[in-house]
Amino acid sequence: MFLIKNCNKILILCVYYIELKKIAMERMNFNDVKKVMFAGNAILTFLSVPTQTRFTFAIERFKQSTSNPEAEKSQPLGVKLLTGSNNTSDYTYMGTIFKDLNFRVKNNGKISVNAPSFKAFQYVYDKVLKGIEDKRIEIYHSGQCCRCGRLLTDPESIKAGLGPECIKIVGKLI
Ligand SMILES: [Zn+2]
Repeated sequence: MFLIKNCNKILILCVYYIELKKIAMERMNFNDVKKVMFAGNAILTFLSVPTQTRFTFAIERFKQSTSNPEAEKSQPLGVKLLTGSNNTSDYTYMGTIFKDLNFRVKNNGKISVNAPSFKAFQYVYDKVLKGIEDKRIEIYHSGQCCRCGRLLTDPESIKAGLGPECIKIVGKLI
């Protein structure tokens, strides 16, 4: 009986370890986030672990260069927030990351600087720049549905590799 009890404990620990590893593999570390952010064509979803609040941002360089990294570096990055249900088109301009790496609102931003989404971006961007990990925040770059090819921005879908409709259909195929 004692042995069985301990076996169960070991099994639970193993499962817990595998789950932790799985999460660690799927979420990005902030160093990798930084690279993706400056790549010029990123769609990133920030998830707050304690509150499960999430925001999706498109971070796009105004002009990209295939041959001159210095010229590319001088081009600012536009930051847009996903504000609708279509994750390929429903983005609203929020601010700009300039050459000096400062994130500022150009002209009149359409998203209030006091909005939780704006504050979330500012907070995470600061941490990412400084290379300070924050375990309460998970960041995912967009995925692609393995059945229909659509863009995935919901962390659960990214992890599954399938959108909510396709995951149901695939369940019937196997
Ligand atoms: Zn799909």
